[in-house]
Amino acid sequence: MGSITTSILLGIAAAGANAFGGAVLVQKDWDKKYLRYFIAVGAGFMLGTAMLEMLPESIRVSGPNAPLLLLIGYFIVHFFEHTVTSHFHFGEETHKEEFADNHRVFSVIFGLVIHTFFDGIAIASGFLVSSWLGWVIFFAVILHKVPEGFTASSIMLAGGHSKKNAWLASALLGFATFLGVVTVTTFTRSLPAGLPLSAGVTLYVAASDLIPEVNREPGTLVALAVFLGVGMFLVLQHFFH
Ligand SMILES: [Zn+2]
Ligand SMILES: [Zn+2]
Repeated sequence: MGSITTSILLGIAAAGANAFGGAVLVQKDWDKKYLRYFIAVGAGFMLGTAMLEMLPESIRVSGPNAPLLLLIGYFIVHFFEHTVTSHFHFGEETHKEEFADNHRVFSVIFGLVIHTFFDGIAIASGFLVSSWLGWVIFFAVILHKVPEGFTASSIMLAGGHSKKNAWLASALLGFATFLGVVTVTTFTRSLPAGLPLSAGVTLYVAASDLIPEVNREPGTLVALAVFLGVGMFLVLQHFFH
C-alpha cells in the first residue's frame, strides 16, 4: 500500500476516534475517571514522538528553518486554544457558567479544529518521510483522539447544546483531521513546512494541554502513567525503527 493511501486510511481512523470520544461522552453511564489515565499515557507517548522523532526529522527535512517553524506551530495552538478563547482545558468540561455565551463555545471548538487539522498534517507528513515515522505519529495522535472528542462534546453540552450537536462537534474535529491529511497528500511539497509546524503543535498539545490535565489529578499513579506512555514509545522505537 502506498504512503498516501495509508495516511488517508489512518486519517479516517483518527477521525473515527474523535467521533468515538464524542459518542462515549454523550452516553451518561461511563466512568470518566479513566479519561485522565488515557490522557497521561497519550502525553508521554506524544512527548517521546515529538522530541525524539519529529524534531530531528524536521531538522533533516527543513534544515535551519525547522526550529522557527516548530516555535510557530507551538504558538498557533496557544493562540487559537488559549488566547482567542478565555476558558479551555483538555478533558471533561463541567464549568457550565463559562459557556453560557454561545460565542465562547464556538471559539473553543474553532481552536480545537485548528489543532486537529494539524494532527492530520502530522500523520501525512510522517508518512512522506517514512512509514515508521507515519505510524508512530499516528499512534501519538490516536492516543489523544478519544479524549479530544470527549472534550469537544462536553464543551457543547456545558453550553446547553443537544447531545446530537455535541457529538457532531467531535465529528467535526475528525473531519478537520482528515482534511489535514488530505492537504498534505495533495500538496506533498508542503512537507518542509508541515512537519516542523505539526511537531510544534504536537509538543504544545502534549506538554501544555495534556500534562496540565494530568497534574490536576491527585495521586502518583496518573503521573506515572505518563512514563508508561514514554516507555511504550521507546519500546516501539527500539523494535521498529
Ligand atoms: Zn472548565
Ligand atoms: Zn489532537
